Amino acid sequence: MTQVPDDYDPAELEPRLQQRWLDDETYRFDGDANDPDTAYVVDTPPPYPTGELHIGHALNWSYMDFAARFHRLQGDDVLFPQGWDCHGLPTEVKVEENEGIQRTDVPRDEFREMCVEHTRHQIDSMKETMRELGFSQDWNAEFRTMDPEYWGKTQQSFVEMADDDLVYRDEHPVNWCPRCGTAIADAEVEPIDREGTLHYVTFPGAGNDDVEIATTRPELLAACVAIAVHPDDERYDGREDDTFEVPLFGHEVELIEDEDVDQEFGSGAVMICTFGDKQDVTWWAEHDLDLRAVFTEDGHLNEDAGDYAGLTIDEAKEAVADDLDDEGYLNDTEPTEQSVGACWRCDTPIEILSKEQWFVEVDKEAILERADEVEWIPEHMQQRLVEWTEGMDWDWVISRQRVFATPIPAWECNDCGHWHIATDDETPVDPTEEPPAVGSCPECGGESWTGETDVMDTWMDSSITPLHLSGWPLDIDLAEFEPVSLRPQGHDIIRTWAFYTLLRTGELTGEKPWENVLVNGMVFGPDGNKMSKSRGNTVSPEEAVEEYSADAARQALALGGQPGSDVQFQWKEVKSASRFLTKLWNIVKFASGHFDEDTPDIADPAYRDADDWIRAKATRVASDVEAEMEAYRFDAALRELREFAWNDLADDYVELAKGRLYNGRPGERDAARKALYDVVSVVTRLLAPFSPHLADEIWTHLPGTEGSVHTADWPALDAYDEDAEARGEVIAEATREIRAWKSANGYPLNADLDDVELYFDPGAAVENVDTYDLSETVNAPVRVRTGRPNVELVPIDVDGDDAEIGPEFRGDAGIVLQALSEADPAVIQAQKNSGDTITLEADGEEYELDAEWVTVEEEYRAEGGEEVAVVETEFGTVLVYP
Ligand SMILES: [Zn+2]
Ligand SMILES: [Zn+2]
Repeated sequence: MTQVPDDYDPAELEPRLQQRWLDDETYRFDGDANDPDTAYVVDTPPPYPTGELHIGHALNWSYMDFAARFHRLQGDDVLFPQGWDCHGLPTEVKVEENEGIQRTDVPRDEFREMCVEHTRHQIDSMKETMRELGFSQDWNAEFRTMDPEYWGKTQQSFVEMADDDLVYRDEHPVNWCPRCGTAIADAEVEPIDREGTLHYVTFPGAGNDDVEIATTRPELLAACVAIAVHPDDERYDGREDDTFEVPLFGHEVELIEDEDVDQEFGSGAVMICTFGDKQDVTWWAEHDLDLRAVFTEDGHLNEDAGDYAGLTIDEAKEAVADDLDDEGYLNDTEPTEQSVGACWRCDTPIEILSKEQWFVEVDKEAILERADEVEWIPEHMQQRLVEWTEGMDWDWVISRQRVFATPIPAWECNDCGHWHIATDDETPVDPTEEPPAVGSCPECGGESWTGETDVMDTWMDSSITPLHLSGWPLDIDLAEFEPVSLRPQGHDIIRTWAFYTLLRTGELTGEKPWENVLVNGMVFGPDGNKMSKSRGNTVSPEEAVEEYSADAARQALALGGQPGSDVQFQWKEVKSASRFLTKLWNIVKFASGHFDEDTPDIADPAYRDADDWIRAKATRVASDVEAEMEAYRFDAALRELREFAWNDLADDYVELAKGRLYNGRPGERDAARKALYDVVSVVTRLLAPFSPHLADEIWTHLPGTEGSVHTADWPALDAYDEDAEARGEVIAEATREIRAWKSANGYPLNADLDDVELYFDPGAAVENVDTYDLSETVNAPVRVRTGRPNVELVPIDVDGDDAEIGPEFRGDAGIVLQALSEADPAVIQAQKNSGDTITLEADGEEYELDAEWVTVEEEYRAEGGEEVAVVETEFGTVLVYP
């Protein structure tokens, strides 16, 4: 136990404790991550190392930290790791920008090294902010997906899935970003709205009538393979199998019928091209149409586009439309709003190209079943996953034509084209640098291989985090995997991270990946809008820490709303959290002045009602907070804790106990000290998940504690007593009301009163209380009674309304007011009670006044005629004799 400094100075305290936690490895995990009975494992998101930890991260990580710290206090072995999802396009693009190069300008390994170097710096700056916010990751459990130890696991999981035929290589239409030059998955395609032009184009009939189609993409005419109409469309009755010449290009296409054609669109006839969109892919496959691919990987037209070869897609759109017009095929154009799929990274509209790629099979049913076994918090977030999963059309394309990512561990035989996939024990391996261990080709005996240059989608890395955390493959086999406790994540990555983890970890282990998914919402700016640099309403976590403290900022985030809901960042919440923390500091400073080394061990204290009450209530609050924390309702937990600490402990109990703490006989004083100690100790531990710095600092100042509060146990005060709580509420309320009465009536708070009487309503739950502390606090003898007090209201003064009396009596107004003030209040009151008018006599004249113009002031008198104040309360009535 040490002296508590006068001032609470978070700027000094927080960095000091952060350093101590690091030095002491306070959050080190040393349990068995795969034992669901003892371990609480957080499947921490490995963020993309952008270099900046924004306020949305701060919310997400605060939730994790609350849960991790709570479970540590509960005695669980908590693994709260931190990974970094390093690979991917944004880093490549950034490095190209920073170095002023294209990735193809330098050898692969050199480019990769540049990406690694860049990523290291980005990670360092984000870690710094995590530290400043007081998050309790175990940095021994840090991982980076760009490290061979990690991506070797990604490769191994790929090999395992390939062994189960869940990975395959095939030519299939894929989403393609022409700017980034790579295939991308459905989840990476974002819809964007744009203005397009609808072109009405005539296709001349070959031995039959012409047909008109409407299209926004004339540049795809070279790729046209059919015309489609709805079978019920009467305009095209009997025209199935008609043949048309494609304008400008001359090849012939036939008219087919398909239920999916929208009759309302344009002329009701559409052209099918390979490929304008996913619908084209479906029609192409169902009707077994030709493949005429006219786009190159970098967004130009190829030689099959004739004169248009070499133009960009946009240039070709314009050139083809112009030529259609010149040649008389273009009948009309009109502007149209359209939604097109674009690359998530660069906003370039995607194209659909048919490519040899690697795919992971998507078993929608299995994913939905596993999702159903998981507890979603809040529950409705599961629906987002269900909708996304049900809408999936294609298997997951996992190959990317990039560099900075996990290499696909496969080689192609140069003699027979056989693809060989690495074995488990070969990983990690970069097939562009090493030959396969198998030596000669198992199919043809050839000895010459080409390593796969395609790399994996980064979600292949991050979709096995639960396996990595559980110790696979070194400590456990796939079959031994047990779901980890918690997956915290944003709702924007339900269709990616949650989906892919359910798919991959699920297929590999046959288990759900986690017990609970905790979804966090977004953080909106102080103005209630989405934060954006252009709006100027962004708030960084560092700002909030600098302005107030990490402990206050974390409380404000917790109180922003239930997990899952969007949270508005409010400076006033940070400020009020900061005031709460200062208040708590002051209570502890006061309390510690009454503690000594023996306080925790005071035996058989003679508790008074106030002590029993605060201890009972602390027990109940601890149990409520525990239930809320178990259910991840951090806002409700913190709110209850704060109300208890501020109202019950600071405002009520401390006031009640002061008399005994300062002037009590030793036994009286000990009971108050012990109760105060117990409750401060409970509050400190309940607060530790939310405001870990201040809680730890307080803890070290309390006698009888050892080490950090974060290695302590959840409080087990076990002093719940319903009657004690009810009696204490009465004492606390009476105290509050009497003190409020004193200040409202101009008495100092320590003013002596003649007497106080508590009247309990007959039959109320409480009919008697221990009045010792109340009496000390309000400086009065206190008596307890049952029933209604016998008091009467006595008129004591009369007052007339000048604004009415003046105009009515003009020159006589002064006389009337004078007469009123001299009249007997009881007589005036009697007149008021019996009629609407009051009659006054003055200077021999009689005056009639409207009764409404006159007020009679009344006061209570006790039976014996003494002046008394009557205060109504929840439990009954309090009489105050001043
Ligand atoms: Zn792109
Ligand atoms: Zn071969």
